Amino acid sequence: MELTPRQETILGIVKREGPITGDRIAERLSLNKATLRPDLTLLTMMGLLEARPRVGYIYSGKSLDQLINRRLHQVRVGEVQSVPVVVAENTVVYDAVVTMFLEDVGTLFVVGEGGLLEGVVSRKDLLKAALGGHDLHRLPVGVIMTRMPNVFTTTPEESVWAAAKRIVTHEVDALPVVQPATGPDGACGLKVTGRFSKTNIARLFVELGERA
Ligand code: ADP
Repeated sequence: MELTPRQETILGIVKREGPITGDRIAERLSLNKATLRPDLTLLTMMGLLEARPRVGYIYSGKSLDQLINRRLHQVRVGEVQSVPVVVAENTVVYDAVVTMFLEDVGTLFVVGEGGLLEGVVSRKDLLKAALGGHDLHRLPVGVIMTRMPNVFTTTPEESVWAAAKRIVTHEVDALPVVQPATGPDGACGLKVTGRFSKTNIARLFVELGERA
């Protein structure tokens, strides 16, 4: 968020003269304190200034970029993730397309027994299958999906920034949120507990902008 010229001026005064009281800042700007209050509140809420009782305002030493950066690394995937939409490996392409429309998602996660991750099917995978002239009522998604261990995943504890970086680096739309689990046959795998997609990132982006 950009600061107004007056907020920049206040920040400059506090940087040079802090600790400084609100009254003194108002005096320096030839304004009354009530006029300045919203600016001082905002600068304090943003973390750029610190208000010390009986002392006045001091500059926190943190730039706006540092604060935004810290916030992005603080938010965890688990706080913004969506409900996963899963299908079984033998689901036919036709039904997978219907599920995508009904659930309003662009990525389906393919799971086996115990909800363990087996693969991912995206819109393009389904379009490719449709163009291939296959019988979409018979072709199972297991044949066209991107299969484990080639699926990029995330965990609820990972930072949104790290997960978003994986999405950008590998040019995919969504990551299954997983946790280690054991299947019915005793084999180790990854249980799908959520969905982290570009939509979650966009939503957080808007939210952070509104709150700043
Ligand atoms: P779209 O098909 O809508 O462009 P993606 O960019 O997510 O969606 O998918 C592109 C390809 O990457 C597809 O073949 C898909 O199977 C695969 N893919 C999608 N998500 C993942 C993921 N999390 N890990 C690995 N591969 C993925």
